[in-house]
Amino acid sequence: MHELAITQSMLDLVLEEAQRAKAKEVKKINLVIGEMSGFVEECVQFYFNFLGKGTIAERATLSFKMIPARARCRSCSKLFELEEFDWTCPYCQGNSLEIISGKELFVESIEVE
Ligand SMILES: [Zn+2]
Repeated sequence: MHELAITQSMLDLVLEEAQRAKAKEVKKINLVIGEMSGFVEECVQFYFNFLGKGTIAERATLSFKMIPARARCRSCSKLFELEEFDWTCPYCQGNSLEIISGKELFVESIEVE
């Protein structure tokens, strides 16, 4: 269910930006989704269709870009991309990791007219 809330705030942001740019219509919204965010594209799209109705973003296309999760090893402080289900540091084999990105969903840019 958290897609609903995140889609709402994403839409608010987009409309705010569009208004600032004095746009008549939002054509495209470029979104970035972290691999570990748990957000499902179809869900975001679904809520967007629902929430965007009657706004100038109604007909906007959503474009999703997945970014890999990144972690920092607590033992050796190195940064690396997390492989799925592999929770060990490739440098020191430690397994105390801190996720530093990959849980986000944000608007990278929008295209307006
Ligand atoms: Zn390490």
